[in-house]
Amino acid sequence: MNILVSACLLGVACRYDGKSKPDNNVIKLMEKHNLIPFCPEVTGGLPTPRHPSEIVGEKVINDIGEDVTAQYKKGAEEALKIAKMYNCKYAILKEKSPSCGKGKIHNGKFDGGYIEGDGITARLFIENGIKVLGESEINCL
Ligand code: SF4
Repeated sequence: MNILVSACLLGVACRYDGKSKPDNNVIKLMEKHNLIPFCPEVTGGLPTPRHPSEIVGEKVINDIGEDVTAQYKKGAEEALKIAKMYNCKYAILKEKSPSCGKGKIHNGKFDGGYIEGDGITARLFIENGIKVLGESEINCL
C-alpha cells in the first residue's frame, strides 16, 4: 500500500539542522510498501537548515521569536494533498516534531521539555482519517 513518510526518516537531509534521521526499520518497509517521502516544513517554504520551532498555543514560533505558523499550515495542507492523491490510509511521521509528531511534542519553551499534543501535519492527517504512526509504532505494517 501507499504510505506517506516523513522524508527525514528515509534519509533526506531536510531537518532544521540540515541533517536527516534515517530509521532502518522504516526504510526496510520499502520492501513491502510504496513509501512516499514528504517534508511539510520544506514544502511550506522554510529553508534548510532553519531555526528550530515549537508550537506555542495556536501558533508555531521559532527560537528567535518569528511566527512561522503560515509555513507550517501550508506544509500540512500540501502533505494532505499528496496523501489523498496517493490514497494513503497510513502515514509514518517523525516523533516529537512540531510538524510530524503525534501524541508528544516540545512544550513551546525551548527547554527540551515535552507536552502531550500533535504536530501541525499530524493533527491535520488525524482530522482527515489518516492513521498516523510514529517511527517506533510501525510493527503493525
Ligand atoms: S517536518 Fe517532518 S519530515 Fe520535515 S524534517 Fe521535520 S520531522 Fe522530518
